[in-house]
Amino acid sequence: MCGKLYLVATPIGNLEDITLRAINILKEVDLIAAEDTRTTLKLLNHLGIKKQLISNHRHNEEERENFLIEKLKDGQNIAIVSDAGTPGISDPGEIIVKKAIKENLEVIPIPGACAAITGLIASGLNTKEFSFYGFLPLNKKLRKEKLEEIGNEIKTAIIYEAPHKLKDTLEDLKDIVEERQIVLARELTKIHEEFIRGNIVDIINKSENLKGEIILFIEGKEKQNKENFLNNMSLEEHYSFYEKQGLIKKEIIKKVAKDRNVNKNEIYQYFIKK
Ligand code: SAM
Repeated sequence: MCGKLYLVATPIGNLEDITLRAINILKEVDLIAAEDTRTTLKLLNHLGIKKQLISNHRHNEEERENFLIEKLKDGQNIAIVSDAGTPGISDPGEIIVKKAIKENLEVIPIPGACAAITGLIASGLNTKEFSFYGFLPLNKKLRKEKLEEIGNEIKTAIIYEAPHKLKDTLEDLKDIVEERQIVLARELTKIHEEFIRGNIVDIINKSENLKGEIILFIEGKEKQNKENFLNNMSLEEHYSFYEKQGLIKKEIIKKVAKDRNVNKNEIYQYFIKK
């Protein structure tokens, strides 16, 4: 029987952020393929697990995949782990998963910490719809294209960034994100966890010499524009905005109340008194 390929999420800082299932899988598998064996060894020592480790980093991922596939075919169960968080998310994992699926091998995700999701839920931005951009490309042309995409992004955009590249990335974003709300999340789950909120100028001013691991969350374009647009209108203008769209009074009052997050009776009373 073939072995199973487990993708095991590990902590992104706080070592307590690992599930019981993940610990059990790491104990049970025959082999752990790690992005950096030294980093994973620290985690295994902390958990009291002794297990054979092999390296599976970005530079040897393709070469390692055949070796791992053969081991799976031989019946060995293998766990893939990255240095921190969820494998395959801006980390090795994708290639071996594709290959395993092609070979009809079983792939089992073991969920846990992911920096993007951890930061997103506390960002205060739209969590219903978001776009994950990972690290921006270094190639100038590709980077420009990606920045343009973010400029037009209507969902919350999520960008991973290294501290020494942060300044350049914020400067690049300056012209494209206008007044959109930005949240910089730093050192999540660690002692110096921090959220810095504001527009791009605020973030540039507050983020000089920042160290540690960083994620940027950028408010989606349309949502912000729509909110600003509606918030700047008087009630009468807001009413006639929908009236011009052919809506009847009852529908208009309902929509105006929803946009302004107030009870529809309040809006109704306002227009009765007028
Ligand atoms: N696979 C990981 C995950 O599930 O989030 C991401 C790995 S990627 C190589 C590393 C990047 O993730 C960092 O540069 C940073 O942008 C983000 N990151 C990882 N841990 C973080 C943390 N504790 N706080 C903030 N950002 C973090």
